[in-house]
Order: sequence, then structure tokens, then C-alpha cells
Amino acid sequence: MIIKPKFRGFICTTAHPEGCAQQVRNQIDYVKSQPAINGPKKVLVIGASTGYGLASRITAAFGAGADTIGVFFERPSSGNRTATAGWYNTAAFEEAAREAGLFAKSINGDAFSNEIKQQTIEMIKREWGKVDLVVYSLAAPKRVHPETGEVFSSVLKPIGQTFSNKTVDFHTEEVSHISIEPATEEEIRHTIAVMGGEDWKMWIDALQEADVLNEGAKTVAYSYIGPVVTHPVYREGTVGRAKNHLEATAHELDKQLKKIGGEAYVSVNKALVTQSSSAIPVVPLYISLLYKVMKEKGLHEGCIEQMYRLFNERLYTGGEVQVDEEGRIRIDDWEMREDVQAEVSARWSKVDSDNLKELSDIEGYRRDFFQLFGFETDGVDYEADTEANVTIQSLA
Ligand code: NAD
Repeated sequence: MIIKPKFRGFICTTAHPEGCAQQVRNQIDYVKSQPAINGPKKVLVIGASTGYGLASRITAAFGAGADTIGVFFERPSSGNRTATAGWYNTAAFEEAAREAGLFAKSINGDAFSNEIKQQTIEMIKREWGKVDLVVYSLAAPKRVHPETGEVFSSVLKPIGQTFSNKTVDFHTEEVSHISIEPATEEEIRHTIAVMGGEDWKMWIDALQEADVLNEGAKTVAYSYIGPVVTHPVYREGTVGRAKNHLEATAHELDKQLKKIGGEAYVSVNKALVTQSSSAIPVVPLYISLLYKVMKEKGLHEGCIEQMYRLFNERLYTGGEVQVDEEGRIRIDDWEMREDVQAEVSARWSKVDSDNLKELSDIEGYRRDFFQLFGFETDGVDYEADTEANVTIQSLA
């Protein structure tokens, strides 16, 4: 079929298999063009199909030569419906890994459930014995608690007071004002349950109890801080509370893993266009301004450049892992540079619908968003008849 982008709200409901495969190959090529990483050899990535998790899997495999198991929640194609982008990404990743002689298997299902944890542990025991690194990169709107069955939904809201600021609709390129009502206590509790550290700890507990973590094993989860302008809706809002919980969990897990000489970290990453971040109000406008400023300064990075730097310059340097005063890894260092933030902030106060194109990289934002779903990618013929039914080999 001929596959075109189709939108429902800020989500694209179609994905292009060839475009997704090309995006994955581009990421692999980037990692292969960089010096090899003396890193982990058996890597479990939870949330491995898109965004930072996919880039972590690619970096581990093609940067450090690691065998990988990826866990994610994606949908295959059915009838005239395409699969999700993460499905196509994984099919392409597995194919490239196998061609390179690397073990790559995937588990598609709800990572919050006990069943998927057990299935993963069984696969590790059967195939590897033990794991050297566990990357936790889930971003989900909902979680069913595996013990109580309670269904939690995360929300993106400020806490304590209404937040009003600028936002952009990148489809229409219109800058407008948005007001977001504060979250209730219940919504805060729910968001912490979905995006906080409880499930990460459940994974590490289960892996440790099953004795499948290698001596010196590491685990890392991802967080975000960002500029003052987004603090009310992000870092000081509901998701920020969840990130505080995730960061506190890292300290707890770090102590727990000391028994096997292991370590747990949170890495604070750069703001980037992913399926998750595009759903946050205000943030897309910030990202558009940030992209423009960082590109002008030659500092721009995507997920793959960030993850390569995380592995090569933080987690696997051979020496101590460099962290901030709160024990967090910072690869948002270039985003948070004083000169970058000062310039973004100056543009923030001026930006409106008329000067959006001049002050921001709204076009780069839009293209990155389409590329998440395999569209607008160089080297792909979008008029060609394309097979939407693609198999992930390890799931066949
Ligand atoms: P993403 O939406 O691209 O990826 C989410 C992954 O989680 C996908 O692989 C998806 O399949 C998987 N997933 C979702 N629900 C699942 C479930 N129930 N079971 C199994 N898998 C499930 O998101 P992302 O932006 O790469 O976010 C990953 C992490 O990085 C998050 O913790 C996020 O807060 C953090 N982070 C993101 C940014 C950013 O700007 N995008 C910046 C800093 C930190």
C-alpha cells in the first residue's frame, strides 16, 4: 500500500516501514562512525522500540558489540492498518543486529506486568545466564499495578496553581496562550505510580532475586529537568514529582546493587522530539527554540548522539561515573549551558506566530516529528507500493 501520515490530535496513526528502517540504519551508521565503546556485553532495554530506549539499544549493540533483549509495547499491522513505528524500528534493528552477528531478541507486552518480567527473566536464563546493564526507558500514559490491579493514568499538569504560557501547534505554526489547571492530589499520585520508580525497582528486584544480574551490573533510567519556563508544567508539575521519585529510587537501587558490586543511575537527558515529549504542552515551543539555538552553536544532538555520549563519556569510561551534586548523570549539559539558555529565554519572550520561523526551528521540529513515524526521510520513495506487514524475526 501507499502509506501517508494520518493524524489524530498530536499522534500520527500510521507509520512507514521503509522510513523507520532508514531512521534506524542512520542511527546505526552514526554509532559505527564513532570510536568503539568498551562497555556491556549483555544488555536488557525496557522501552526499547523508540526514542531514548531505541537509541540506547543501538548504542549498546553497535557501539559496544552487545547482545540485547528489548522489551516494549507495540502493535503489528492488521488489515489496512500499519504497525506502530516502534514495531518497524525493532524489525529493522533486529535484522541489522543479526547481520552483524549480534544476538537480538524482543518481548512485546506490558512491561509493568509480572508476566512480562518473568518472561524476560526466563529468556535471560535460557539465552545468556546474566545481564551487565539494564536500561529503563519507559514512557507510558497508563499502568496497571501488578499486585493491586489499580489502573493509574499519568497527567501533565502543574501543581498548586494554574499555569499560563505560550505554546505552539506545529501543524498550523500558530503560537497561542494556554492555561493548564493544577492537578488534584489523586492525579499526582497516579502520575508518580506510572512514571516514578516503583516499576523500575520491581524489575531490579525481580532480576536480582532470579540471580540474573552479573557482578558489577549497572542500571540506568532517564530523567529531565529543563529550563525555568517549563518548570511549572514539567519539573515542578506532576511529571516532575514522578521524576523526583525515579531519582530517589536510583539511590535506593544503587545501595541494593552494591551487594553485587553494581550501580544504579538516573541520567538527565536533553529535550528531544519523541512521541512522549510532543504530548507535553509548552515543551514543543521550547524545543523549537532550543533546536535553533543549539544548531547555530553547533551543539545540536538527537537521541543517538545523546546515548552514545552517555555510554562513552559517562557510564563506560573505565573510571568513576561523573555525576552532579545530587548523584545524577548530566548529558543535558549542553542544553543547560548558560549561553544556550540565555539565548532561548530571550527568544521565548519575543516569539509569536509572525516571527516563529525566524526565531525557532519549527521546521526542524516538524520534520523530526514526522521522522518518528518514518516519514520525510531521505532515500525513501513514499510513492512506492510498500508492504505494511513486516515481521520482527524474534517474535515470528
Ligand atoms: P518514547 O515514547 O519514545 O518511548 C517509550 C518506550 O516505552 C517505547 O519503547 C514504548 O514501546 C515503551 N512502552 C510504553 N508503555 C509500555 C508498556 N506498558 N510496556 C512496555 N513498553 C512500554 O519515549 P522517550 O521520550 O524516549 O522517553 C523515555 C524516557 O526518557 C522517559 O523516562 C522520559 O521521561 C525520558 N526523557 C525524555 C526526554 C525527551 O525529551 N523525550 C528528555 C529526557 C528524558
